[in-house]
Amino acid sequence: MYDIAIIGAGPAGASAALFAAKAGKKTLVIDNDKSITKRAWFENYYGILEMTGPDLVEIGKKQAVKFGAELLTSTVQNVTKTETGFHIETENGAFDANQVILATGLGVDLAEKAGIRTKNGTEPRIKTVIDVDADGKTNIDGIWAAGTVAGVSVHAIITAGDGAKVAINVISQLNGERYVDHDVLKS
Ligand SMILES: Cc1cc2nc3c(=O)[nH]c(=O)nc-3n(C[C@H](O)[C@H](O)[C@H](O)COP(=O)(O)OP(=O)(O)OC[C@H]3O[C@@H](n4cnc5c(N)ncnc54)[C@H](O)[C@@H]3O)c2cc1C
Repeated sequence: MYDIAIIGAGPAGASAALFAAKAGKKTLVIDNDKSITKRAWFENYYGILEMTGPDLVEIGKKQAVKFGAELLTSTVQNVTKTETGFHIETENGAFDANQVILATGLGVDLAEKAGIRTKNGTEPRIKTVIDVDADGKTNIDGIWAAGTVAGVSVHAIITAGDGAKVAINVISQLNGERYVDHDVLKS
């Protein structure tokens, strides 16, 4: 049983995964390697002078794994509610998690199949997004969404920030108090 399962490991999902794992949560991140971010060239990501999309995605996954997230390359086919959380069916087996974060980029099919409410997107070329509240909660208690699929501005630094924001909200809910992750300058 995972504390948090994250579907998608683009900037939103990998960022959520690294925060979740670094907070000590048993974290599973599942990704089928179809990130739109891999087609980008970045010069507008704060703190990075320039970087290729494939490098940004690869480093993000490595960061999440470094803190203990388990990364599975597979496609999630369905997410269903159970008595204790959620059952996640993939092409390579099934897993259970207490909380789920959807960070599926352009893909809303999985969300719609799971009964999650969607709405029209506002960003250029983004037709449909998941209907979330300000915290990233969907209409199904325990399923959250972050990044492009949650309707934020389609920029990597914003989707990564949204993944971090939603993960911090999930961690805070699990802990029963607000969570912060601050490392101090090493001497
Ligand atoms: C050509 C191009 C150029 C761009 N240039 C810039 C730029 O210069 N600056 C900038 O800020 N932004 C740029 N962007 C936008 C940027 O890539 C996105 O805003 C953002 O990074 C998307 O992040 P995400 O995590 O929401 O989605 P994605 O990066 O698309 O990640 C979603 C992940 O979910 C996975 N997934 C989906 N469904 C499933 C499933 N059922 N099971 C398992 N995995 C699943 C996918 O494989 C994917 O890896 C560009 C985009 C494109 C296409």
